[in-house]
Amino acid sequence: MVVRLLFSFLAVCIAVPALAADPATRYPPLRGFFPEATRFSDFQGSPPAVTAWRGHEPIGRAMLSGDVAPIPAYSGYPINTLVGLDREGRIAGVAIIHHDEPILAAGVSEAQLRGFVEQYLGKSARDRFSVGADRPGYVRIDGISGATITAMVESATIEKTARSLAATLPPVAAHPVTGAPQVERTAAVRIPAKPVTAERARNVPPVAEPNEPAGALPDATPAGDEPVWAAVWHERRMRVGVLIAGLAALTVVLFFQDWFVRRPALFARVRMGFLLFTLFFLGWYGLAQLSVVNVLTFTHAAMRDFRWQDFLMDPLLFVLWTFVAVTLLLWGRGVYCGWLCPFGALQELSFRLARWLRLPHFEIPAMVHERLWAVKYIVLVVLFGLSLQSLTQAQLAAEVEPFKTVFTLHFDREWYFGLYAAALVAVGLFNRKFFCKYLCALGAALTFPARFRIFDWLHRHRECGRPCQICAAECEVQAIKKNGEINANECHYCLDCQLSYWNDRKCPPMVERRKRRERSALAAQVVEAVNAVGLAAGTGVCAVDPDTCRTCPSRCDRA
Ligand code: SF4
Ligand code: SF4
Repeated sequence: MVVRLLFSFLAVCIAVPALAADPATRYPPLRGFFPEATRFSDFQGSPPAVTAWRGHEPIGRAMLSGDVAPIPAYSGYPINTLVGLDREGRIAGVAIIHHDEPILAAGVSEAQLRGFVEQYLGKSARDRFSVGADRPGYVRIDGISGATITAMVESATIEKTARSLAATLPPVAAHPVTGAPQVERTAAVRIPAKPVTAERARNVPPVAEPNEPAGALPDATPAGDEPVWAAVWHERRMRVGVLIAGLAALTVVLFFQDWFVRRPALFARVRMGFLLFTLFFLGWYGLAQLSVVNVLTFTHAAMRDFRWQDFLMDPLLFVLWTFVAVTLLLWGRGVYCGWLCPFGALQELSFRLARWLRLPHFEIPAMVHERLWAVKYIVLVVLFGLSLQSLTQAQLAAEVEPFKTVFTLHFDREWYFGLYAAALVAVGLFNRKFFCKYLCALGAALTFPARFRIFDWLHRHRECGRPCQICAAECEVQAIKKNGEINANECHYCLDCQLSYWNDRKCPPMVERRKRRERSALAAQVVEAVNAVGLAAGTGVCAVDPDTCRTCPSRCDRA
């Protein structure tokens, strides 16, 4: 089985380069970028770029932003854009290959989006762009009304991709800045006559101006200028405030969890309220659903050119990831999965609704269930393997997550995506959190840092699992083993088992404790009553401890 999976994985990795062949067929806009081209090379080099040739003369290059600038946009996912440069470093073409922006919901058409990117044609890879505002030293680009963040992120995406692409160009003539006087070419174009191999492309020096060190392209956000992410944070400050307030409330619940779970009615209201907040505010309103794509992007950035700016572009995701990173170390992956994941909340709430409607539910036998856990780890490994080849490919494969369909696009996309997401929600009506338990690659990824969890906050009785199985039967994700031990990798921190743990009408050791308490209280009452009667008759001898006696202190001669 394992061998077969490995072979499938290798086959996928081998198939990807094959798919990447003939880029002009895969990406038809390339022909529009370079109408004089007679042929195109494969995507080559690191980062991969395609070269357009006219006969034996290279006339330009193109690159996908997904490989160099996967900046999360309004949807939480990058806008994958193909950017082409001519050999002077001017933008020869920009085409959006794929995006998940809910622009239609904002009344913005695809044509408007195309019109926006067309403004970059003819601009230099050295230009800096300002969306919707005149700024000294910047080229103004008109924004898109109703889709400000999409426009700002797309602008940063194009700018960064154009700069990365310019750095892969072979030595070339000076390329003038838009609006500046034309600069005489001072260096001959020396593009190799043969197609660029991956190895050669890696060794090609970056474009250099005369008297300017190689690779000295100015940073997109020079000191003193407001970077794009800062503008986005300003624009979303209200949402960030609400999110921080929600996270603060959750922190209180987590720190005082024992107090809350001893008040089941209050806890039920708090949990229901928080799940609704997660589903509607984080999920549908804020589009703050974390994704395995974030994990892959972060890993690749850490391995290559890590820039905080790329991750600050979406304030809600940034705040949420920061909070999740802390909770992973304190409580494990469960805090995110049990409280903050919109799709997890959707499954949990729909399952509760199904129970309320008395729909049947089923559980997968423990042996099969524990083997199915492995599937999500395999999905994660495959996605990671694909991302080594191409982040863009990995992003496509990450559609195994239904998050984008449900939250970003509100099911408004190709029918098979909608059917897949609806099927997962439907299965979750009858089997609690089916997707989370077996398929979620993000959930699998979160278990790795959670191994460094410092505390164990979930209480267990000696009798848990031996013989009591009440918590195990109630656990929403079947994370409690038969022996009563909690599998922290699978626990979603719903605290249901803690409600039972403290419930002295349900949990056998607690029931026993309560009964003992009641028996001794009753015995004390009987003794006190007997003594009271004896003392009243003037014949009794009080046996009650004078320190604890509450019956007749004023009449007792020992008082
Ligand atoms: S397992 Fe995945 S879908 Fe489920 S709650 Fe966790 S992150 Fe969300
Ligand atoms: S019932 Fe307990 S073990 Fe199961 S998911 Fe909830 S907190 Fe974790």
